[in-house]
Amino acid sequence: MSNLTLTPTNVKEMLLKVADVIIESEEKLSQADRDLGDGDHGLGMQRGFTAAKAQLEVLEPKTVSEVFTTTGMTLMASMGGASGAVMGMLFQSGGTALGANDSLDADGLCTFLKGACDGVTNLGGAKPGDKTMVDALVSARNKAEGNDCKSISEACQAAASGANEGMEATKAMIATMGRAKTLGEKSIGYPDPGALSVSIIFKTMSDYAS
Ligand code: ADP
Ligand code: MG
Repeated sequence: MSNLTLTPTNVKEMLLKVADVIIESEEKLSQADRDLGDGDHGLGMQRGFTAAKAQLEVLEPKTVSEVFTTTGMTLMASMGGASGAVMGMLFQSGGTALGANDSLDADGLCTFLKGACDGVTNLGGAKPGDKTMVDALVSARNKAEGNDCKSISEACQAAASGANEGMEATKAMIATMGRAKTLGEKSIGYPDPGALSVSIIFKTMSDYAS
């Protein structure tokens, strides 16, 4: 099945699925952060998406924007840490960019990704190559924009593939932002935990939309 667009209720179901998969991925994300940071990334994501799930379950959305912004605001309020601010901003800025749209199509996903990239880079100052979640997010955006997608299914697949490539690319990078920068060359060989989260988020969205 190939969906052309998603309704606000579909987007709510999609983000509930994202929440479940992130919650299940706690150990994998914690291990990634033990390799490069302080080991709390999985627990922060689990806490944030447990809170987001509770907010989404009672939401009766009229627009796709409010599903994303509700998620973003809840992550910001519940996660804490560097990633609470940037993960929250990803959904908050991406959702705000969608305005009053009552469905999400391929162009809408590109609008979401542009808003998300702008919001996260303006807030945190990380650029592609710094070994952060920005590498996965910018790669998702570039691939979705570059593929001239006709359906939300195709756009989500392109974003997921781009996010995975961006996450894989962080393995070869030396961290220059956040906690991992103190490791210098010892950060080579491990994926950035936030980039891993972003790749899981878009993979789950793609699985839902396909
Ligand atoms: P903390 O670093 O406070 O322990 P987490 O472990 O939850 O927070 O998250 C770490 C992740 O946050 C990193 O892997 C990176 O992807 C992301 N991150 C940290 N600082 C920034 C930043 N300035 N811009 C974008 N992402 C960032
Ligand atoms: Mg950490």
